Amino acid sequence: MKNKEFIKKALSTESDNFNLPNKRVLHAAMGLVTESAELMDALKKSTFYGRDLDIVNVKEEAGDILWYLAVLFDEIDTDFETEMNRVIEKLKERFPEKFNERDAYDRDTASERKVLENKQEIIYAKNSKEITTK
Ligand SMILES: [Mg+2]
Repeated sequence: MKNKEFIKKALSTESDNFNLPNKRVLHAAMGLVTESAELMDALKKSTFYGRDLDIVNVKEEAGDILWYLAVLFDEIDTDFETEMNRVIEKLKERFPEKFNERDAYDRDTASERKVLENKQEIIYAKNSKEITTK
């Protein structure tokens, strides 16, 4: 299933029975937290209660997290591919070679922000079809 098809199918099951400012961003953010907590619960049961890690449940919660990301991405007019590329560009700025603790601790957030903003400009340029450069 392609990412845009996933977003379309996920949105067909989205509730719109509430009226708040930024309601879809709020719904997505709250859902991401609660689904992440369900993922942590699976790890808690495995780590502290002597159970095997329930991989089916871990995958279920990962899928639920994707559902809420689909709602968020739709609301802020982006998609999985764009954001996957954006985070990789940011991480390349943070860790030019590979992960290391010094770069993780001593982050240049201003430089990372520039990368994020430049990436966004490139995406907008692609969408406008007026600019043909990368
Ligand atoms: Mg869940």
